[in-house]
Amino acid sequence: MSPKAKDDNHIFNLRPKKLKNFIGQENIKSKLKIAIEASKMRGDHLDHILLVGPPGLGKTTLAQIVANELGVNIYATSGPVLERQGDLAAILTNLSRGDVLFIDEIHRMAKSAEELLYTAVEDFKIDIMIGKGPAAKSVRISLNPFTLIGATTRSGLLTSPFRSRFGMILELSFYKPEELAEIIKKAADVMNMKIEKEAALMLGERSRGTPRIALRLLKRVRDVATVEGKDIIDMKTVEKAMRILDIDKLGLDEVDRRILRTIIEVYNGGPVGLNSLAATLGLEPDTISEVYEPYLIQAGLLARTTRGRVVTDAAYDHLGYKRKETLFDI
Ligand code: ADP
Repeated sequence: MSPKAKDDNHIFNLRPKKLKNFIGQENIKSKLKIAIEASKMRGDHLDHILLVGPPGLGKTTLAQIVANELGVNIYATSGPVLERQGDLAAILTNLSRGDVLFIDEIHRMAKSAEELLYTAVEDFKIDIMIGKGPAAKSVRISLNPFTLIGATTRSGLLTSPFRSRFGMILELSFYKPEELAEIIKKAADVMNMKIEKEAALMLGERSRGTPRIALRLLKRVRDVATVEGKDIIDMKTVEKAMRILDIDKLGLDEVDRRILRTIIEVYNGGPVGLNSLAATLGLEPDTISEVYEPYLIQAGLLARTTRGRVVTDAAYDHLGYKRKETLFDI
């Protein structure tokens, strides 16, 4: 699974455009609603926002909604693309008053671009060097006031001076199965499919708390229904699709289970350091910590300790292993 495997949203427009159509994240929605209303009433730009949360929870969608609700343009880019100051300066100088600049994976921006962004977001001014060698001179350019919306998987990945530039830091949480079922139902409507209520809930339970996964699974379930000639998706269809995809009752896929099994079998349940674990699994440490771990932790199967990663008793039970004996058990 690629962390950012993009969906076929361009075929079915599944992204909600208004705050009221965005399901879940009530706390964040109410904060955004007030901030948007206030900024419209004052006729002022909206304060800069940092959206924090694992991939697929709706950070990009929320940024687009904010721009849409404000009635401004959004310019979307991502941290790894902004390698040089010039790349960012070109974007900043093209923004109109009140526009939204969305930077995904903002923690992966080059240091020099990050520094340029500091003054841009604070004073709406940037200093850029023109020319080379002794003839080079620094030129100050004024920018139109804009709103920066940054997205990152963990706020700790940003330096504290960077974090402090955001007026609002909003942490998205995993969705409840009922919320995912609602998202699934709406998407099924758009895709002209019928899905039974219980089937949508079952799919919601298997989606690792993540809308992007829910939508991806829905498409696989739709394939099974098509092949079987069913015009309504029921629990049997969902169960069959989950069996084919090897997704278990908690929504864990093969990689999730391999992570837990490796800690149990190779490291006796942990603690194990992230880098050793990644090397054993043949995965990137970042992929483990940003894509897989957050849900395993939230599901109570894994814990991060100062000495490393440890699986919990629940993980032993879920995978059918005998629990590790501890001093307390003896
Ligand atoms: P992120 O930027 O956090 O990785 P996205 O905004 O790209 O996540 O969302 C992933 C997918 O899930 C998109 O197709 C989006 O339409 C859908 N989605 C996310 N959150 C919601 C929600 N609350 N309601 C409906 N669809 C959502």
